[in-house]
Amino acid sequence: MDKINTLTIGDLSHLVIGSGTEVPTRHGLKPYINFDNAASTPTFKPITESILSFLQWYSNVHRGTGFKSQLSSWAFEEARDMAARFVGADLKKQVVLFTKNTTEGINKLASRLPLQKDDIILTTLMEHHSNELPWRRVGRVVHVGLNEDGTISREDYFSKLKEHGSKIKLVAVTGASNVSGYINDLDFLAAEAHRVGARILVDGAQLVPHRRVDMKPQDRQHRIDYLVFSAHKMYAPFGVGVLVGDRDWFEEGDPMTVGGGMVDIVTLEEAYWTELPEKEEAGTPDIVGVVALGQAIRLFEQIGWEAVIAHESELTAYVLTELQKIPGVILYGDTDPSRAAERLGVISFNIEGLPHALTAAVLSYEGGIGVRAGCFCAHTYVKSLLGLSDAEARKYELEILNRDRSHLPGAVRASFGLYNTMAEVKEFVAMVRRIAAGDYSRDYVLDKERGEYSAPDFAYDFPKYYRL
Ligand code: PMP
Repeated sequence: MDKINTLTIGDLSHLVIGSGTEVPTRHGLKPYINFDNAASTPTFKPITESILSFLQWYSNVHRGTGFKSQLSSWAFEEARDMAARFVGADLKKQVVLFTKNTTEGINKLASRLPLQKDDIILTTLMEHHSNELPWRRVGRVVHVGLNEDGTISREDYFSKLKEHGSKIKLVAVTGASNVSGYINDLDFLAAEAHRVGARILVDGAQLVPHRRVDMKPQDRQHRIDYLVFSAHKMYAPFGVGVLVGDRDWFEEGDPMTVGGGMVDIVTLEEAYWTELPEKEEAGTPDIVGVVALGQAIRLFEQIGWEAVIAHESELTAYVLTELQKIPGVILYGDTDPSRAAERLGVISFNIEGLPHALTAAVLSYEGGIGVRAGCFCAHTYVKSLLGLSDAEARKYELEILNRDRSHLPGAVRASFGLYNTMAEVKEFVAMVRRIAAGDYSRDYVLDKERGEYSAPDFAYDFPKYYRL
């Protein structure tokens, strides 16, 4: 457990679980380079060691009378307090609810929004589908548009706030983009939302693992009223999400999920909900996942935000600089390396003339480098970053609906974590340079329906590496 107390950022590349894991490529075994951290991060040995030690004491929480149940309950609630402190929440006014992930957290809040007829949820065209689709189910959604560079338009934000005023119940906005890595100005967005009497929800799935997020509950102007994030993107991939926010909307009314653990009394006619947070956490929670999140928070606190930002922006600046030197590479969003510390290490790009899925396949099959390709669950945002017209987008939509994904619009995304190294980004840039120069096998086969490329005569033998 105490190992976390002495960690520095330099230790992490050796302590990441899977460090140096060799994976099969068409050129033999290669150490895996994971640049898909915006999707999920791996974890670290000190975290799993402390989880193994916790498992000796593991038991169900809250209602058990035995020592192990009481210890587990204590650890579970300690992790809740740590999560609150991590984002500056005030547990007198606010509550920390454990969910499965960010998506479930946003759906939970959507289900508890006290909407009147005609109320509006104001979101943006930068959002992940998880911060778009849940709102469509419960009310009228209005979108703030984008500037040409893919940032949120302040002008349009002002104009939507002016147009809809007090009808806006909630502004739901991402803290940072999972496509362009842009970080939004939360102080500004919050202050303007509050000016019209709306509350603000920040989707922190991308931001929380890379920057200190302070909910500032005492600051009426700049406070973040609701924040959601996922532990699997912050080095604790064991199935936990967090929703933090004001207690009142959860105190009123009925929870989204009902069942065991969230009632005081049940008769055949009635059920009386218990207090928060249990009221909103029906059933047995992911106790191990929550404890792992607590350990991940300790790790962030030990490493310190300055070191995280300095390291990740060094990698980002290098990749932005080098990719721009490669003929045919198209970068999306802010390409200025000198501003690397003002954005996340999430870099989306394409190589001219090559489908994104092919570039991603070559990176994996020939370089052992894991990235992501496609639209990253942000179809409207990617469409606008790529500059697709409505007619083009409609054409591709029809093809996709006809089960042909061969022209799926999108990009390749490389995203860095705090354990990635300079040697890894250099290897990645060298691979992109080779692909752009046409130096790769030309025999990849497209599966039209899936929109994915595979290498002929080269099948992965998964059970050789891991058996269930
Ligand atoms: N919002 C953003 C900005 C994301 O990047 C993601 C994950 N890709 C989500 C929401 C959804 O997170 P989860 O899959 O943990 O629910």
